[in-house]
Amino acid sequence: MIVVLRQNTKPEQMENLQAWLHSLGLETHISQGQNHTIVGLVGDTSKIDMDLVGSMDIVECVKRIQEPFKNANRKFHNEDLVVDVAGVKIGGGNFQIIAGPCSVESREQVCYIAEQVKKSGAGLLRGGAFKPRTSPYAFQGLKGEGIELLQEAKAQTGLPIVSEIMNITHLPMFEPVDLIQVGARNMQNFDLLRELGKINKPILLKRGLANTIDEWLMSAEYIMAGGNENIILCERGIRTFETRTRNTLDLSTIPVLKRLTHLPIVIDPSHALGYAHMVKPMAMAATAAGADGLMIEVHNDPTHALCDGAQSLTPEAFDDVAKAVFQIRPFACKYE
Ligand code: PEP
Ligand code: MN
Repeated sequence: MIVVLRQNTKPEQMENLQAWLHSLGLETHISQGQNHTIVGLVGDTSKIDMDLVGSMDIVECVKRIQEPFKNANRKFHNEDLVVDVAGVKIGGGNFQIIAGPCSVESREQVCYIAEQVKKSGAGLLRGGAFKPRTSPYAFQGLKGEGIELLQEAKAQTGLPIVSEIMNITHLPMFEPVDLIQVGARNMQNFDLLRELGKINKPILLKRGLANTIDEWLMSAEYIMAGGNENIILCERGIRTFETRTRNTLDLSTIPVLKRLTHLPIVIDPSHALGYAHMVKPMAMAATAAGADGLMIEVHNDPTHALCDGAQSLTPEAFDDVAKAVFQIRPFACKYE
């Protein structure tokens, strides 16, 4: 971090600033220019409140040189992270499609979809048991029973299962879940993130509806700081002024994140676009841009789905998307 001081800063004011910074365990390096004095801070600046320093009378501006996230930072982990989800690997050249219904609705529904998506090449099965719905009157999920049905689909197909946790008190019920999803609405539920840092299970961390990439990485940092380093990031569209799509798919997250972090990145075109007919082109684009995986909603009968029918692909449409994606995959952008 560097602090640029205003012209006319008195020597004793600068000494006071230095003494305060030293008391925080930081070293200071002063460089005296013709017009400005620059104070370089050396040490762990992650706990420094930049706004507080910037608000001081003698300070012209403050700049962070290093990102405030350490565990999630590629600078300290040059190798891509490979997350092992019950034997299925994602990241570091391993590409996976996570597919399944928005919500688990019945044994027949989830087992049938699991069989179909597996045949098309999906590596993991998704299905919501606890649903974060905008309306309290909408279907809220089958809860514990939904997790049991996912387990049955796993037993039948061998696909590892992915499901969203909304409340940390439900954690014991998630014991059979192989990859725990933190949904967009909970990306900044810091108590939940902190608790998930204490467990030894991979986490799929979705980007919040209106969060920056840096905020998202700081949420990953919350989990990683607790010791759980197996995080997969999932871009699912952000809120913009556009109304023709449910959200705006920010595919630029792929090159941005590839430079900033070693964590794998999965793209969810279903929640981003909101309409089934838009899923294929964006799944192809995300694959070409070098995503480590995709998350796609599939339903046997989208018009009667209890949740997110408009964006759900039929198993046949999913098969077509998967074929296109696997064809593109060998030509996908690679990052150094
Ligand atoms: C979901 O994956 O079913 C879901 C609710 O996603 P998001 O948190 O991205 O809205
Ligand atoms: Mn959904």
